[in-house]
Amino acid sequence: MPPPSETLPTATLRLPPLPDDIAGVRVRRSARRRKTISARLEDGGVVVFLPAGMPAAREQEWIDKMVERIVRKRTRTHHSDEELMAKANQIARDFLDRPAGRRLRPSSVRWVTNMNHRWGSCSVAAGTIRLSDRLQQMPDWVIGYVLAHELAHLEHTGHTRQFWELVGHYPSSERAAGYLEGWSAAQATVWGPGGGGEIAPAGDGSVDLSE
Ligand SMILES: [Zn+2]
Repeated sequence: MPPPSETLPTATLRLPPLPDDIAGVRVRRSARRRKTISARLEDGGVVVFLPAGMPAAREQEWIDKMVERIVRKRTRTHHSDEELMAKANQIARDFLDRPAGRRLRPSSVRWVTNMNHRWGSCSVAAGTIRLSDRLQQMPDWVIGYVLAHELAHLEHTGHTRQFWELVGHYPSSERAAGYLEGWSAAQATVWGPGGGGEIAPAGDGSVDLSE
């Protein structure tokens, strides 16, 4: 009888193919669970819930199927560059345009993989916004907050009082700022102290949202 909880691969189960940003796969078995099989993201990995007593081959089938489903769904909710651009435009339309007194529209919005000390950046002159792909594991309203922050830089280059006032029109801004701070603090305990603090506008007119 296999244990109630295992991390893949095991002696009898292999790990299905995973994208880079999924940390791993665990199975949890429960005798109380008769027919329902489910899966969800937890701590960056996929957990598959199975009824106890299934033959290994059946388990493998379900694991493959459920992991694929989660990965696909996750990719869909978690923003291609096109979706990110659409999301930025919607945030501008819904929350920022009116207080800014004009339409704030970036020329492009993209995920980047090499931004490890910042959450986002905005090149004001070019109107381009970049978001660290580390945000993809975070809740939607946090991603929205970073977008709102970078969008607000299209209007105010520095972190002035007017800048923060504009960002504050995004509904979850305070909560999201707290979330990112907490996340950075947690990382700092693991990775050593980070940069921290606010970021000043860079020489080329781009501005960063610091961790
Ligand atoms: Zn900023």
